[in-house]
Amino acid sequence: MVSDLFNTHDNSWNLGRLYSLFSEDDVVRIRSLRINVNKNDEIMWAHTKNGKYTVKSAYNAYMNDSIIPEDVSFWKRVWSLDCLPKIKFFIWNFFAYVLPVNSLLKFYNPAIDDCCPFCANEAETVMHLFVQCLIASHIWFALSLQHLISGDYNWLDDMYISWFDNNLGSSPYVVNWSSVGAVVLWSIWKLRCDVVFRKIKINLDSTIMDIRRSLHTYIVVPSKTNKVTMMKVNIPFQEVDHIIFVDGSFKKFNMSIGIVVCYNAGSIKGCRADFGLIHSVVAAETMTLILACSWVRELNLSNVLFVSDCLQLVQLVNEGKSDIDWRSLQFLEDYRSSFFSCVNSRLVYVKRDRNKITDGLARRARNFSLKNIWNPSPHFLQTSIGEVPLTEICNNLFT
Ligand SMILES: [Zn+2]
Repeated sequence: MVSDLFNTHDNSWNLGRLYSLFSEDDVVRIRSLRINVNKNDEIMWAHTKNGKYTVKSAYNAYMNDSIIPEDVSFWKRVWSLDCLPKIKFFIWNFFAYVLPVNSLLKFYNPAIDDCCPFCANEAETVMHLFVQCLIASHIWFALSLQHLISGDYNWLDDMYISWFDNNLGSSPYVVNWSSVGAVVLWSIWKLRCDVVFRKIKINLDSTIMDIRRSLHTYIVVPSKTNKVTMMKVNIPFQEVDHIIFVDGSFKKFNMSIGIVVCYNAGSIKGCRADFGLIHSVVAAETMTLILACSWVRELNLSNVLFVSDCLQLVQLVNEGKSDIDWRSLQFLEDYRSSFFSCVNSRLVYVKRDRNKITDGLARRARNFSLKNIWNPSPHFLQTSIGEVPLTEICNNLFT
């Protein structure tokens, strides 16, 4: 029985038993599932949303045996870019970490100088060359695309995924940010190769003009407009006492949570960070809401407005949509029951840039394994708190 794997006193997984029976990878997968002691044992198939076996899903699972789903969807995003095949191929090289930057070459041949050919100041890593180097950041800024690299990303693939957010940037038009970013990355690499192999001198003005031209030539404007704007809450300002920004971050079964509680006028009352294991993005966002609800009860707050930038979750909760993986469903059911025990609460969606403080907190929690509560806020958030107009964001939530 599955319950033989539980600790009955606190409904947690019995780690000693798990590790004695399963491989380390499988233990991580098992621990990312939520325990429900009220349900009977049932055999579920991991490769379909409803948990039922199909031959097609078995075939797909067999073909992709060594690839985890997160990776598959990541590479799909690379190959589906709206730009020339040579640019897609470059982006594939970029994220496969096989671009021959000097720090990689030095790894194989210690005699090679790993210096950045642009600034000659730092080691040439992919992150340095394309994001941190003065020349690179000058290019992004001159093209008014600094928002594509300004997210304080530790991983370039996190940065890339953020380019698929429909609500990125302040442009009133639908912009194909992922392809724009891809063309800029490719142009920086072309410039770098010209400097290294053709010994050209960098002329930033003409470089930027060339990139602008490439952007006009290569980018296909998306035809369908599926821009979802922020949902207005049809409740008066006076009926909400606290606004709670939540964000769950997810990477390879690791989840982290950021929660920021504000008074309705926008000043911060408290912050909370946590981390753990989980199996999907939606489950991470749901887990974040569950923790936020329980914190609200501990703090004895009522009339709260939860704010999330996960549109899928907000639709699942508010519109009862159920197109969701069976493992996440357990989280959602738990969330629904804890949500209703929060007096007078609602959940709304905001654009990702409005949830920047919480996003920074969740990211930090993941990188430093933080589990903590601050009253009102930790020192490492001060810069982003200074940059984000919280009062305005809170005000704009109301009609
Ligand atoms: Zn440099």
